[in-house]
Order: sequence, then C-alpha cells, then structure tokens
Amino acid sequence: MPRRLAERFRERLGPDSVIDDPVRLRTYECDGLTYHRAVPGLVVLPESAEEVAAVVRACVDAGVPYVARGSGTGLSGGALPRTDGVLIVTSRMRRILEIDLDNQRAVVEPGVINLDVTKAVRPQGYYYAPDPSSQQICSIGGNVAENSGGAHCLKYGFTANHVLACEVVTPDGEIVTLGDGPGYDLLGAFIGSEGTLGITTKITVRLTRAPQAVETLLAAFPSVETAGAAVSAIIGAGIVPAAVEMMDALAIEAAEAAVACGYPAGAAAVLVVELDGPEPEVADQFARVRRLCAEAGAFEQRVARDDADRALIWKGRKSAFAAVGRISPAYIVQDGVIPRTALPEVLAGIDRLSRESGVRVANVFHAGDGNLHPLVLFDDAEEGAGERAELVSGAILDLCIRHGGSITGEHGVGVDKARYMPRMFTEADLDTMQMVRCAFDPPNLCNPGKVFPTPRLCGEVPRVRKGSPDGELF
Ligand SMILES: Cc1cc2nc3c(=O)[nH]c(=O)nc-3n(C[C@H](O)[C@H](O)[C@H](O)COP(=O)(O)OP(=O)(O)OC[C@H]3O[C@@H](n4cnc5c(N)ncnc54)[C@H](O)[C@@H]3O)c2cc1C
Repeated sequence: MPRRLAERFRERLGPDSVIDDPVRLRTYECDGLTYHRAVPGLVVLPESAEEVAAVVRACVDAGVPYVARGSGTGLSGGALPRTDGVLIVTSRMRRILEIDLDNQRAVVEPGVINLDVTKAVRPQGYYYAPDPSSQQICSIGGNVAENSGGAHCLKYGFTANHVLACEVVTPDGEIVTLGDGPGYDLLGAFIGSEGTLGITTKITVRLTRAPQAVETLLAAFPSVETAGAAVSAIIGAGIVPAAVEMMDALAIEAAEAAVACGYPAGAAAVLVVELDGPEPEVADQFARVRRLCAEAGAFEQRVARDDADRALIWKGRKSAFAAVGRISPAYIVQDGVIPRTALPEVLAGIDRLSRESGVRVANVFHAGDGNLHPLVLFDDAEEGAGERAELVSGAILDLCIRHGGSITGEHGVGVDKARYMPRMFTEADLDTMQMVRCAFDPPNLCNPGKVFPTPRLCGEVPRVRKGSPDGELF
C-alpha cells in the first residue's frame, strides 16, 4: 500500500526525497534498539512543514500508518518503522531558523542535532542545557518526542523545561503551534508523547547562559554502596550539582577498553560530580563535595585542571553505552528510575539478580536523579542467552517499580516497554492515556503500536469511565 503513494510523493517532494529501493530501505529498519527490526514500506525525506503535512494527509487518506524518525538513536524502538507504513525522516530539516539572545531562545527545525544548538550560541556565552549522551547525533525533534534527559538535567531539568513552543503537524495534517498560553497544556502533553500525537516541524528552545565557573571531580570508591552514600550525603547537604554520575567496575572496565579514560585503578565505583554557577558559590560547594566524598570512603579524588581534563573525565562516562561493546558481543540498555534513597538496596538487588542468573550487568547511571541504566550483557551467538538477558532486564524493572520507581526515566516506552506498562498502570490508567491519544489521532495511524500494550481505536475502547460515589470506576 505505501508503495502506491511513492509516485504521489515524488511529484510533491521531488524524486530524491522518496526511497522505495529495498536495499536503501534497510538503512532505516531499526533505531538504537537493534533487536527490533522492520523494513519500512516507504521512506520520505521532507524539507518543510508543508511537505510533512502533505505526506501525513496522503497517509490518512489512504489509511496508511506513518512514523517520524529523527536520527534514529532512540533506545526503545520508538522510531521502529512499519512494513505497511511510511517513515517520515527529518534529517533534511536541519536549519537553525532564528537565534534571539535578548530573549534567550532559538527556533530550530526538528532534524537539528542537539549539540549544534550549543555550537551556534557558545561564542556568545550561551548553550542548550539538555545533554543526552547521544547529543552529537540525536535530533531536537527526537529529544522533544522522548522528553530526553542527560547528565546535567539534575540541575537544569529535562527537555520539557527547555522547550517553549512546537509547531506540529497534527495527525489530520494541519499545521498548528502548541505553546505556553491559557488553557490546557497541550505542549506539555506533546513533549514526551513518543511521536504518537503528531510530528513537530519547528521547535522554540530556551537558551541558557554559560555558568561563570565549572568544577568537575572524579572520585573513586571501594564499593557501589560507599559511592551511593556519597551521593545521598551531597544531596542531603542541600547541594544541587549540575551532574552526579556513577559507573560501577564493569562499566569502568568497558570505558577503559574503549576510550582509555584513565579512571583510578581498583575502583569498584566512580562518581563524576560537576558543579557550576557563580565562582564563590562553586568554590564553597566544591570543597564541601570533596569533603563529603572523602567521608563516604573515596580513596582517590581527581579534579579537572582544565577543559581538556574535564572532557577526558566525561569521555569515559559519555562513551559508556557504546564501550560495553568491547566487553560483550551484545547488550540491552535498560532505563529505570528509583527514588535516590533506594539506590543501595536496588543496586544490591541488581547484583543478586546478576549472580543468580549468571548474566553480567554493568551499571552506569544518573545517580543524582535516581535514573539507572543497567547494561545487561549477553552473547547473541549463544542459544537462549538473549532470552535470559531479557528476563533479567524485566526483573530489574520490577525491582524499580517495587521501590516506587518507573520503567523508564528518559529513553521512552516505545515498542520495547509497552508490555511492561500494565505492571505500572491499571487498565483504567491505560485507557485514560489512550483517550488523550485518540483525541489527537482518531484513526490511530500516527506511530501506532508504540507505548501501549493493547492499542485501542477510538471507536471501540477506551470507553469513558465514570466515577461512582464510592470512588470505584465502572
Ligand atoms: C549512545 C546513546 C546514548 C544515549 N544517551 C541518552 C541520554 O543520556 N539521555 C536520553 O534521554 N537519551 C539518550 N539516548 C537515547 C536517544 O538518543 C534519545 O531518545 C534521543 O532523543 C532520540 O533522538 P533521535 O533524533 O535519534 O530520535 P529517533 O530515535 O529518530 O526517534 C525517537 C522517537 O521520536 C519520534 N520522533 C522523532 N522525530 C520526531 C518529530 N519531529 N516529531 C515527533 N516525533 C518525532 C520517533 O517517532 C520516535 O518515537 C541515547 C542513545 C544512545 C544511542
């Protein structure tokens, strides 16, 4: 069916903007979650909001599903295409349209790479704060869809805190602007909706002033527990670092093998703590952080002497996901959240799961906001190893839920975690969320099959649930 749209799209977008060659289509068969694959029926590369809208309208007229894709670095299969659908790739929409430093904002197209926003304004002393570790390649459109986070989101907040407006092609092909204003917070509903409520074609982002001072510490600990205790002590002292990241021994081993970051030998865990802000405040808090780390048991502390040194410290952390490829043929990047105070208990639980199953788990995480990224390692050539890794991965999410956490912190639900949603939400919760989706996309053609375990069309369920006087839903 999508193939039949190819000619129409060639006429509207130009011949170079439509891909239907089976070999070239394979390039788009997955995102960063490579064990889910589907060759798209058709790929289009629009260059404007009007072209995106034309594609969406044609898909809706033909009853063909469509999926937006930015850079394809998503780790939950959000941009997994449909074999019976059209993949709308934003990589040709890469213009920074406006920079307004007086109002600390920029307007960008969705395919703009995250780091390029910072590069464009750094000479003037500004930057774009949300910094996923994939920031050299991921797109702002993808960041909006996933409400992406990053190491510095502990202090500065997630993407949602830095997006002021989005131009959106709605699932009926209209171009509208969602922004700050009276009435329902539709922008809030759109950010983090994983490409299911429309396609953003223009984003107004907030620019942040570069801090006066930055200090970065690498602290090595004899155990994960002592490193966790240092995190609690720092936050408990009322200090809000720009970032607090933790890596355990296996993650350090992988990072060393990949990028030779020179982390202290013999560390069972390292913390990267970064403070930024006005010089006197940073100096005072940094001294306190160093003291608290020492009291918690840090046996070595290294302070970045300059930007090059700082970059090397961060290189180990930021390369950690990819680095794990050095010590394992395959791995699952898990993403769960727990209250910070539950860190020691949950990490002990993950260790227990790993020992009992024989499946190795490396831990890299945004310790400051309790966002875990256990990397579950396996050999995909070994029969049953993938399934065992999946089981451990699911058990880790159960552990997060049992401790009052969540099945995703920043990578989204996508296809990967749709099956875990009922572990966290009741059927009524899921129905209510799908009523929102149906309000935007009645025919359920915009990135269908993502987020919800049992997708429902608006004509059937979700039904409107009414509250009874005793609070029961019926
Ligand atoms: C090595 C590595 C490190 C990572 N580190 C982090 C991290 O620190 N923090 C973090 O949050 N994530 C991280 N990620 C995950 C990923 O980079 C983010 O989710 C990122 O926001 C995805 O952007 P993308 O352009 O690649 O989007 P894609 O993967 O192309 O798409 C992601 C989702 O966005 C939707 N989408 C894309 N463009 C649009 C649009 N214009 N309108 C509407 N929907 C759209 C897609 O349909 C899909 O559902 C990491 C990934 C890798 C591979």
